Amino acid sequence: KPKFSNVLIKINEEAADFYHRVLVSTNAGKPGYNYAKKRGLNHDIISHFRIGYAPKQNNLLLTYLREKDFKDEDLVKSGLFVQSQNGELFDRFRERLMFPLSNEGDYVVGFSGRRLSNDKTEAKYINSPETEVFTKSKNLFHFAEAKKAVRSENHLILYEGYMDVIAAYKAGIKSGIASMGTSLTDQQVYMLRRITKNIIINYDGDDPGVHAEERATRMFNQIGGFNLGIVVLPEKLDPDEFVKKYGIEKYKDEVKGALTPTDFFLKRLKQKYNLANDREKLAYLDDAMKEIAQLSNPVEQDLYLNKIAKEQGVEQDSLKVNLTKYRRQQN
Ligand code: ATP
Ligand code: MN
Ligand code: MN
Ligand code: MN
Repeated sequence: KPKFSNVLIKINEEAADFYHRVLVSTNAGKPGYNYAKKRGLNHDIISHFRIGYAPKQNNLLLTYLREKDFKDEDLVKSGLFVQSQNGELFDRFRERLMFPLSNEGDYVVGFSGRRLSNDKTEAKYINSPETEVFTKSKNLFHFAEAKKAVRSENHLILYEGYMDVIAAYKAGIKSGIASMGTSLTDQQVYMLRRITKNIIINYDGDDPGVHAEERATRMFNQIGGFNLGIVVLPEKLDPDEFVKKYGIEKYKDEVKGALTPTDFFLKRLKQKYNLANDREKLAYLDDAMKEIAQLSNPVEQDLYLNKIAKEQGVEQDSLKVNLTKYRRQQN
């Protein structure tokens, strides 16, 4: 790996080493280490992801980096410190399990810290603020690593969270990345497009997660050129929880069973209607035709028309007539 020259990256890299060493080899790191163990993170995982711990004391990182001769001015710019009224600096992250966030060159540019306690009055995660080297909307967790894995796995799997990427990694899936929440951005979609067109979306199985999958699918389709699969996990589980509950093999089956966007949308639509009622059934069929009309491939259109015709006991030809009403009104 070539040496980095940006001082803010240097600071973040040093901080990653610091937090990591605190976690794996100090007494101050014990709470973090116990929490990591409780979450099923073993040594290999901790070192692959360079996971660390920000200790309780509010100036250990500060002292460490000052001793390395970094200037306060740069320390402030790194985003790792907060400044009090009188200008004094303090470590921003305290008593948190630390996930380094890397740029495309795999250099650390920021952090996300998870609280250890269940105390809901504190944010579950806090992130580095925006800096000269870190923009959250243009960052994807584990992107540089997943980029290498895509060659053998032939797709990337998009998750919400760090723990989901880690659960996948433990299951042998190294191409996991996280959008770090459900608000995927256009910039992130463009980053992905440069790497592969094969994307599997696997957000949490809860309502916000599935809703965000719908939004993400529309974004990918809008930007175009992707081959998408969508995984919806049962019981509102997130991937980490699913793997814990059902194991790695069942999880891999879920990934293999990923839905096409059209199947995903149709399934979502179906849940909105009571199909035992003819009026609602007609409304469903109408909405379904709008969805199928979006497809540019006539073979694909036929495939879904056939499926729906069989399922709902109507003629494929009649559906087709209605379909033409909604033929791609593209901008
Ligand atoms: P855990 O990561 O401990 O399993 P979780 O699954 O309940 O917790 P979610 O609420 O599903 O976490 O959040 C998924 C992802 O969203 C997180 O990994 C993080 O990247 C991001 N996120 C969640 N809450 C916050 C927050 N308050 N600030 C910033 N990012 C957040
Ligand atoms: Mn979630
Ligand atoms: Mn989750
Ligand atoms: Mn989780």
